[in-house]
Amino acid sequence: MNVENHIAENLNTCENALPGSMTPDELATVEKVAATYRKLIKVGCTGCAYCMPCPFGVNIPQCFSMYNDYSMGLNRMMTRGFYGLQLMGGMGTPADASLCRNCGKCVKACPQKIAIPDELKKVKRTLGGLSTKIMIPLIRLMISPKVKE
Ligand code: SF4
Ligand code: SF4
Repeated sequence: MNVENHIAENLNTCENALPGSMTPDELATVEKVAATYRKLIKVGCTGCAYCMPCPFGVNIPQCFSMYNDYSMGLNRMMTRGFYGLQLMGGMGTPADASLCRNCGKCVKACPQKIAIPDELKKVKRTLGGLSTKIMIPLIRLMISPKVKE
């Protein structure tokens, strides 16, 4: 729940979804989906941004969001390209995982107790590097009308 209308949506759900309103089959499906999701998600980051700002400029929630998208197999090439474009300086100031200096400030603020610097190292290994930098002009070209807007 990051914005006010998330709270309104959740209250609305609670009003209408009474205990016992789901069938055993529906509950089993929900559990199956949740288990698959948990397996694919690399970092349990909710995007709350309590860890922000990072004094060294890392956009922590966005790094984890893209890392999870990549892990879930959501168009891996595009995810890598957008990581380069949005976080490695393709559209302005860099904010990628490689900027982490392991100061520990964010770790104290994270309600999910995520080992942020360690996870960022994995993000850097998975999504960063020269191969991603090379993709930046290509991705920029692919979305050029949007960039110009
Ligand atoms: S540990 Fe890394 S990501 Fe966290 S605040 Fe320090 S430099 Fe930023
Ligand atoms: S505080 Fe933790 S859960 Fe929230 S955005 Fe930062 S890393 Fe994610």
